[in-house]
Amino acid sequence: MTLQASEFDPAAAALVLFSGGQDSTVCLAWALKRYGRVETVGFDYGQRHSVELEARDTVRAHILEVLPEAAERLGPDHRIDIRGFGEVAESALTRERAIEMDARGLPSTFVPGRNLVFLTYAAALADRRGMDVLVGGMCETDFSGYPDCRRDTMDAMEQSLRLGMARPFRIETPLMWLTKAQTWALTEELGGRALVDLVLEDTHTCYLGERGERRAWGYGCGTCPACELRAKGHAEWAAVNA
Ligand code: ZN
Repeated sequence: MTLQASEFDPAAAALVLFSGGQDSTVCLAWALKRYGRVETVGFDYGQRHSVELEARDTVRAHILEVLPEAAERLGPDHRIDIRGFGEVAESALTRERAIEMDARGLPSTFVPGRNLVFLTYAAALADRRGMDVLVGGMCETDFSGYPDCRRDTMDAMEQSLRLGMARPFRIETPLMWLTKAQTWALTEELGGRALVDLVLEDTHTCYLGERGERRAWGYGCGTCPACELRAKGHAEWAAVNA
């Protein structure tokens, strides 16, 4: 996937669902290459760990050092408190619970409806800010099968938001069909090794909120599903790119 100059649309404005994790950081870089105006939104839904929300500020502070040409495109960050939702949709991410599979085959890290709620709030904000594009790091490949990460769900949501808010929203999911190794490759394509280094140093993906020691693939406990996925993807990418 190579970005052509013609894909840059100076008139378009995008709101990136930005958690401070690896995937949404790549989405932010992707959007900065593509849209004339880019803003970010993050959600506090009572995550067990604030380390992810702190990573957002660090990534935003550093990403323009890697992509200085985008300095005039990056607009404000928005943070929305939806802890009321977190209380309803209890999961291993918002309560001290073991990470295990439920009867549907879904891990206890699944927060029911989370992406639907995120997108509804993001669309309401985007409408106020005059933005038509929502960008999210949802991904069907290499993932634990969260039903609200599927492109089918995004298509239905896009249609609902268009109808319900009378605005021609597009939900862009640039990572949807990429493996985690391919996401690392896209990272390098977007911002070279400097962006790869930023993802390694500044982003946070670990479900347990651990930073721990710096590993080849970044920081984290190394054993939770998110760390395992990140480490495996990085190893696959590094094996042919080191
Ligand atoms: Zn972990």
